[in-house]
Amino acid sequence: MRATVFYAPGDVRIENVPDPRIQQPTDVLARVTHACICGSDLWFYRGLTDFKPGWRTGHEWMGVVEEVGPEVRTIRKGDRVIAPFVTSDGTCEFCREGLYTSCVNVGFWGMENDGGQGEMVRCPFADGTLVALPPDVPNDDALLKSILPLTDVMGTGHHAAVSAGVRPGAVVAVVGDGAVGLCGVLAARRLGAGRIIVLGHQEARMDLARRFGATDIIAGRGEEAIGRVIEMTKGGADSVLECVGTSTSFNTALGICRPGRTVGFVGVPHWGEPLNARRLFFQNIRVHGGVAPVRAYIPELLKDVLAGRLDPSPVLDMTVNLDGVPDGYKAMDTRKAIKVMVRM
Ligand SMILES: [Zn+2]
Repeated sequence: MRATVFYAPGDVRIENVPDPRIQQPTDVLARVTHACICGSDLWFYRGLTDFKPGWRTGHEWMGVVEEVGPEVRTIRKGDRVIAPFVTSDGTCEFCREGLYTSCVNVGFWGMENDGGQGEMVRCPFADGTLVALPPDVPNDDALLKSILPLTDVMGTGHHAAVSAGVRPGAVVAVVGDGAVGLCGVLAARRLGAGRIIVLGHQEARMDLARRFGATDIIAGRGEEAIGRVIEMTKGGADSVLECVGTSTSFNTALGICRPGRTVGFVGVPHWGEPLNARRLFFQNIRVHGGVAPVRAYIPELLKDVLAGRLDPSPVLDMTVNLDGVPDGYKAMDTRKAIKVMVRM
């Protein structure tokens, strides 16, 4: 089969690789129909995190099951499935609590394993990982494109909103204008936020933020932005979603959070400078969040997508086929695209 292989920072290629095969009785093999390139893929693409040459890439995919291991109970041949960005056994103490990302058998797509940016994948612990779409879901491109972000960014945006304790009528602030930040706006609106302030700077992304429900846009980060949010909210936001992962964005989130309220953070931490611990301490700010257990959120979010109440697909503003993946990385690296869909 053909799949995306990492060579070096800035260099990913489409290569012939061995076809996956069932290795464990709880495995399934699936043909990938839709995949994404993620903002977090850019960390290794830019050489900012270690990634070995020859490793596979892609942690967001949907597809059709082609082969099922003898001990798989809930997933069947022919099912159209959504894959969360980690694999999990679904049975351990953490999975039973819904914290699939802390599963004792947690696994990751890509690297030595098959990645979503390829024609086929072997999925371990299929029952505990994959979510099968209801059989009556039509094979409709627009609908499937709305479902695809549930594999990561929509679930992650939702996790930021839940972790920040968004309540109906709340004043919410979102730090970050990438796909996760934009999905955070959608999630906050879905939870009934009264006002949604977005801190971002690219015009096209701010237009999308307004379409998703943002009421106010603040360009930039840092002290100037903090001052403006504190002024316009008379003291800070009730719930702050941190959706970037840098210390600047985290300190901005702390700076615009109302005393005694909550920052929900989901940006993969790449913290260079120290965090503003004094603000955290003297204003009793709560911090909650982390890697998003999207498997736990897929059922409720899928229901709203299928009912037409939720549509995160506009964050996928560029589509490529498998051969177009290297161009897709370039487009995201240069911020020409918010997020790229790979349509096999
Ligand atoms: Zn588990």
